[in-house]
Amino acid sequence: MECKVITFDCLGLFDEVINVYKNYSIIARAIENGLVEINTFNIRDYTLDKHHRVDDSPYGGGVGMVLTPQPVVDAVEKVKGRHDVPVVYLSPAGRLLNRDIAKEYAAHKRIILLCGHYEGVDQRALDMTVTDYISIGDYVLTGGEIAAVIFMDSILRFCPGVLGNEASNAEESFEDGLLEYPHYTRPEDFRGIKVPTVLLSGHHKNIAAWRAEQSAILTKKFRPDLYAKYLSEKQH
Ligand code: SAM
Repeated sequence: MECKVITFDCLGLFDEVINVYKNYSIIARAIENGLVEINTFNIRDYTLDKHHRVDDSPYGGGVGMVLTPQPVVDAVEKVKGRHDVPVVYLSPAGRLLNRDIAKEYAAHKRIILLCGHYEGVDQRALDMTVTDYISIGDYVLTGGEIAAVIFMDSILRFCPGVLGNEASNAEESFEDGLLEYPHYTRPEDFRGIKVPTVLLSGHHKNIAAWRAEQSAILTKKFRPDLYAKYLSEKQH
């Protein structure tokens, strides 16, 4: 058993989404090895409403329902205890998730993730509990659990031991400001299309140069914004 690196406490209404994520591949192995802990807490378990309701219609009118403040605040306070832990609300209003934010959060030992539903959460509950808002993109999801899974996954890649091979992260997209080069595997010839000969040469310097060139070409094509940023940072 290795030393635990990070704990995520996820608060929401649909734990199943998080539990599916916990059961697969690299994450399942990291949990089994004791490196990562992912706990789920259902906000409904904290409601004091006798009918177990956690939502109500919005003041001021409008469609949809809003999560009421009591179960959200009680859930966060009970899970957090007296510890100084970041509480992140997954929200379209948040900072747009990227590699740097994921790395920033990988430095924490424990993170509480609050997943909203319906129209969202009563603002007073957010003001009382949340330390940061994170968005996974400029679109609206039905619930915060999917966003929480993406956020956790992006963080876990930076946690020591989780990937198994630390080198795996070093060449990934965004690490040097560019997208990663293309990959090829067997067979050498697939439907008449051959693997670039340089990759079969065994010449490490030429392979590295080809990959760097391909990285730049791909970034320029697919993410001209990123490429322009890369060039301007290189000049300074
Ligand atoms: N009424 C909200 C709005 O227009 O901004 C959207 C609420 S959404 C239907 C329900 C929940 O999904 C939110 O409370 C949030 O937790 C989550 N969510 C939706 N889109 C998201 C995004 N782009 N990033 C992170 N979380 C998101």
